[in-house]
Amino acid sequence: MQINEKQLAQVNHQIQRLIAADNFYGKRLKEAGVDHVSSVEDFLNLPFSEKQDLREAYPLGLMTCKEEEVVRIHSSSGTTGMPVIIPYTAKDVDDWGEMFKRCYEFAGITKKDRIHITPGYGLWTAGIGFQNGCEKLGAMAIPMGPGNTNKQLQMMMDLKSTVLCATSSYALLLAEEIEKRGIADKIHLKKGVIGSERWGEKMRKRISTELGIELYDIYGLTEIYGPGIGINCKYDTGMHYWDDYIYLEIIDPATGKNVPDGEWGEIVITTLVKEGAPLIRFRTHDLSRIIPGECPCGSKFPRIDVITGRSDDMMKIKGVNVFPKQIEEILGTFPELSSEYQIRISHLDGKDSMRIYVEASGSNDFKALQQQVAAAVKSKIGFTPIVYVVELGFLPRSEKKSKRVIDERFQ
Ligand code: ZN
Repeated sequence: MQINEKQLAQVNHQIQRLIAADNFYGKRLKEAGVDHVSSVEDFLNLPFSEKQDLREAYPLGLMTCKEEEVVRIHSSSGTTGMPVIIPYTAKDVDDWGEMFKRCYEFAGITKKDRIHITPGYGLWTAGIGFQNGCEKLGAMAIPMGPGNTNKQLQMMMDLKSTVLCATSSYALLLAEEIEKRGIADKIHLKKGVIGSERWGEKMRKRISTELGIELYDIYGLTEIYGPGIGINCKYDTGMHYWDDYIYLEIIDPATGKNVPDGEWGEIVITTLVKEGAPLIRFRTHDLSRIIPGECPCGSKFPRIDVITGRSDDMMKIKGVNVFPKQIEEILGTFPELSSEYQIRISHLDGKDSMRIYVEASGSNDFKALQQQVAAAVKSKIGFTPIVYVVELGFLPRSEKKSKRVIDERFQ
C-alpha cells in the first residue's frame, strides 16, 4: 500500500502547517532540513512520532492551528505518565463524524436504528465519537455511557435498542446479565459495534451467540481522531480503513522499515487532513497487517487484520519472549475452557513465574485440565506456568477494558 500522489500532496500541506506551528515535529523537520516530500522514498525518510513526544507537548503543545479555531480537546488516559491532549478544529470534529458515519454504514446500520451507546463520555474520545457518527447518520442515539446495568437493560428493553456500542468486556457483562435474568426475548439488539480492546475469537463467539447479534470491530485511537477510522464490513475479512483521511503503514517494530503487504508488524499512521494536531508517521504500537487484494463487498478502501496485540505487550518470562495472544491461542484450543482469563507475573525466590487463571465453561475435572494447559504452554512456548482453572464468573468483569495481564514484578 504505497503512498500515492494525492496523499503526498496532503502530507506536504501538513508539513507546512507543522513547520509554521514550530511544535515538536515542526522542529524535527527543520533540524532535518526537510520542508516537503516528493516521492515515496522521501516520505519513508520522515522521522516517526511517538507517544512520548505527545506527552512532552502537554498541555497544548500539539496545537497546529490558531487557538480561536480550536472547538474542543480530547485526552488519552494518563495511566502510564502524562496524559496527551489533542486539540480539534470544527473541521476535525466534522471529519471524524463523517468517518464514524461511514463505519455505521459499513455495518449496515441505518437511520432507522436505535443506537445504545455505553462507552464513556468526557475527556476521552469514546462515547462522543459514537454519538457524533450516529447523529450524522440520522439514527436515534441513546447516550447511556457506562455503568448502572439495571438502567442499561431497562432502557434497552423499553426503547428497543437495535445496536449496542460497547467494549468487548462490557458487551460480555451485559450478555451474561441478560441470560441470568432470562430477558433475552425482550431484547431487540441486532448488531454490536465493539471497540477499544483486543478480544479473542472465543469471547467474540460468546457475545454474538448469547446476544444473537452480528459483531463489528471498530478501530481508532485518541491521537488520531478516536474510534471510527476503520471497521469490518459484513464479509468480515478484516477492517476497512479510510485512506482519504489517514495513510497507514505497517513496519517491522525492530527495524522501523515497511514490511510487504500481508506481513505482520506495527501500525504507523499519518493524518492527511487534520488541522488541530496533525501527526506524521505516528507509531501506534498496535500489531496488525495489511490484507492484500479486494474485499468481496467491492469497496476500494484497504483493509487491516484484527489487532492481535501491542508491540509493547511483550512479556519476558524466564528469558522467553511471550505475547498474551500466544497464551490466549493455547487456551482457545481447550473446549472445556471459556473466554475469560487473567495472567499474573511475579518474581518469587529469584525466579519469574507466570500464573494463569482461566474460567472453565462447565464443571470438568479442573485438576486434570490445569495439568494439560500447563503442558501445552510448556511444549508451545517453552516454560511451565502455574495454571488455575476456576468457575465461570470467578474473574472480575469490567465496564471498560478487562485487565488481562498483571505484572507484579514492578509493583
Ligand atoms: Zn468489505
